[in-house]
Formats: sequence, structure tokens, C-alpha cells
Amino acid sequence: MLDAPDNGRYRWRMRPAPPEIAVVDLQLCDRCGLCLPLCPPEAIHLRLADLVVDRSVCTGCRKCIAPCPVGALTMVPA
Ligand code: SF4
Ligand code: SF4
Repeated sequence: MLDAPDNGRYRWRMRPAPPEIAVVDLQLCDRCGLCLPLCPPEAIHLRLADLVVDRSVCTGCRKCIAPCPVGALTMVPA
């Protein structure tokens, strides 16, 4: 189901599917939260103390990859 048109994330959900998306290795992630505000479409969330990347929202921009201090975020084919 799509977000309502007046929701700011609607435009991100309407984009073509990216070739790659970010995934998190929960064995490496220390839940520091550094990556959350770096994601333009707000695809990264903390849920029940675990980091989650919403694959339907990730645009594959890679802005979260390098800043992660423990290398927990990587790109995989979408
Ligand atoms: S920056 Fe890295 S270690 Fe920190 S919450 Fe994000 S994925 Fe986890
Ligand atoms: S690749 Fe870009 S859109 Fe995807 S989770 Fe990382 S910062 Fe967000």
C-alpha cells in the first residue's frame, strides 16, 4: 500500500527500484544510531533495539555505508 500523497516519503516509494540496497549485519551493528539521520529517505530504523533497513524505501544512495564505524552496512543487489 502506498503512503498518502501528502506524506513526504511518498515520492521515495514512487521511484524506480534501485540496482542495490543497503543491508545491516546485526552481528556487527552496535546500535550507535549514527546512520539513522544520514539516510535521506529515512529507510533506517531501530525496531526492538535492532537496526532495520526498509528495502522498499532504500534508494541505494550509499550515504550510510562509509560512516558506519564498524562496517555493518553493505550494499547487496536489490
Ligand atoms: S552506524 Fe553502523 S553500528 Fe551504528 S547503528 Fe548504523 S549500522 Fe549500526
Ligand atoms: S543506501 Fe541510502 S537510502 Fe539506502 S539505507 Fe543507506 S542512506 Fe538510506
